[in-house]
Amino acid sequence: HIPVICVDGPTASGKGTLASEVARRLGYHYLDSGALYRITGLAATRAGLVLDEAHEHSIAKLAGSLDIVFSTAGRVLLSGQDVTDAIRTEEAGMNASRVSALPAVRTALVALQQGFRRLPGLVADGRDMGTVIFPDAQLKVYLTASAAQRAERRHKQLISKGISATLAALRADLEARDHRDSSRAVAPLKPAEDALLLDNSGQTVEESVAQVLRWWEE
Ligand code: C5P
Repeated sequence: HIPVICVDGPTASGKGTLASEVARRLGYHYLDSGALYRITGLAATRAGLVLDEAHEHSIAKLAGSLDIVFSTAGRVLLSGQDVTDAIRTEEAGMNASRVSALPAVRTALVALQQGFRRLPGLVADGRDMGTVIFPDAQLKVYLTASAAQRAERRHKQLISKGISATLAALRADLEARDHRDSSRAVAPLKPAEDALLLDNSGQTVEESVAQVLRWWEE
């Protein structure tokens, strides 16, 4: 079986940083599954759809026919248009969380995600990589950090991009998103039974990367 490492966990726990670095070190492909939900939310909003159950099937149809390219330069293209920055806003995150709670939308994205499993291997980050998309993955990591830490990291990220935000608002935002992600009926955010837990609150990126690589080598 083609190797897969899953990195799941709550909002702003550092999954993307960890997973993409582990992928780089191993020479594996990398899947940012959250980007697919963010793009779906953006495409649906642009199509004028309200992101609720009443539009579940229209949104799922959209999700199933997205023309997405992850460029080697780290840009994300939707139908040829650069949406890298548009999908990274807090609003885009909240919209992603809304569409991701719709079961038909999740189903529409399964095959697309599984298609990223190619030789020599894949590191996939998200909420349900280990529980739903790659249940047979050879290594599953569930990454956590305190809400205070996560809000702080998100704050730094935004400041470095020249976007202002208050810590309190960011924390409220990510806790609301975690609540929705954990309480939805399909594929709720939770560790897979065979996941290894990693709390990176007090760790540097290098320390977390080294931990995952040690687990991988074991
Ligand atoms: O990881 P990221 O913050 O980019 O994900 C945005 C949203 O997409 C999450 O809050 C979650 O609701 C949804 N998501 C999901 N399943 C995944 C990845 C993301 O439901 N595998």
